[in-house]
Amino acid sequence: MTSGSAPGNGAGLVQTRSLVTPLPGPRSLEIAARRSTAVAAGVASMLPVYVARARGGIVEDVDGNRLVDMGSGIAVTSVGNAAPEVAAAVAAQAADFTHTCFMVGPYESYVAVCEALSRLTPGSHEKRSVLLSSGAEAVENAVKIARRATGRDAVVVLDHAYHGRTNLTMAMTAKAMPYKAGFGPFASEIYRAPASYPLRDGGLAGDEAARRAISMIDKQVGADAVAALVLEPILGEGGFIVPASGFLATLAAWARQNGVVLVADEIQTGFARTGAMFACEHEGVVPDLVTTAKGIAGGLPLAAVTGRAELMDTVHPGGLGGTYGGNPVACAAALAAIELYERDDLAARARAIESRLRGRLEPLRSEAPQLAEVRGRGAMLAVEITRPGSLEPDAVETARIARGCLERGVLVLTCGTYGNVVRFLPPLVIDDALLDDAMDVFAEVVLAAP
Ligand SMILES: *Cc1c(COP(=O)(O)O)cnc(C)c1O
Repeated sequence: MTSGSAPGNGAGLVQTRSLVTPLPGPRSLEIAARRSTAVAAGVASMLPVYVARARGGIVEDVDGNRLVDMGSGIAVTSVGNAAPEVAAAVAAQAADFTHTCFMVGPYESYVAVCEALSRLTPGSHEKRSVLLSSGAEAVENAVKIARRATGRDAVVVLDHAYHGRTNLTMAMTAKAMPYKAGFGPFASEIYRAPASYPLRDGGLAGDEAARRAISMIDKQVGADAVAALVLEPILGEGGFIVPASGFLATLAAWARQNGVVLVADEIQTGFARTGAMFACEHEGVVPDLVTTAKGIAGGLPLAAVTGRAELMDTVHPGGLGGTYGGNPVACAAALAAIELYERDDLAARARAIESRLRGRLEPLRSEAPQLAEVRGRGAMLAVEITRPGSLEPDAVETARIARGCLERGVLVLTCGTYGNVVRFLPPLVIDDALLDDAMDVFAEVVLAAP
């Protein structure tokens, strides 16, 4: 699955970890020096090395070092980086036409992606979609549609939420540093309700946590002022927080009773990542609108809002769109990627990855008291790091662990409101041997705690 034979630079990429220079190597150092005089300082990179090729579970840098990819470019290359089927579809479409603008000259692949989204997203109701270029743009459009459909202004989001970096989505995002600090004033009419965070809310049951949120909304906003409740079914950047069972369903019932549009932001959780095509399915929740991006197109920039036809179609013709939204090359990539999710049952693969990683991470907890919790679903797993014997977040130890993994050639990401979560988002096509290797390295680094 990971060593396809289609032509391309990454086709022969050996699926083992290998460090042939110190990290960063000389070629990466050269590029880093150029970067410092050309690239804005506000754009940060996790890796100190520059990428030359990537395929399967391996990222190879410009000095020939091969790193294990436990990040998938933040849950994007779930079908594998440069998946041969995606690369071939991109090449074929690029040879035919690269752009017409769907608002000028429409084309079939846009329609086909919307049909696939209707089929794959939760619920059997009639749906419509609009295609866009980034996740933040999808969230912006979901809010536009909900406001148009309800005639209301207020948008409720959750604590620890992440919805993007544009002005509206910054306002919807919880964490100030690095996402919001100094970038205000922010969009108005955004209200934040408490989330369900089982490790940190004293074991509050899901329906109790939902009632706590509903009480806040009722008292501080008023249900009949709320256009949309926008939530991540598993909080992503906020720390891979899986809400207690019943939290989402209770909020969904409240939204339905009060004419509030329930928007599930499945930008990170969608497309097989959590072991189901969409994370709402784990809780039996059918949202009114779903935002997707990241995993949708094998690495090409594409995003969407998909939802109930009667809500979506309240928007007047011309009210939705954008020059690049649903670009034909991105649509071709999405159709190829979606075929891979279904053909290879990558949701089942995500569940297998979960049991393999949990099989290593859970036992490690008894030896490593800084691992407060292992959580997540499917191939969206994380460990929260605290001071041993307490819930005090330990961002320093978290950074040490991530850096230690990187130095040994395993690319892991961190996240969390308190910066104390190490997350694992491997491509769903990664070999088991690489997963085991990554877990060996992780354990070695964790157990070397000072
Ligand atoms: C990444 C992400 C976004 C923003 O997507 P961009 O493509 O970076 O704009 C929004 N919501 C969630 C849940 C995300 O993980």
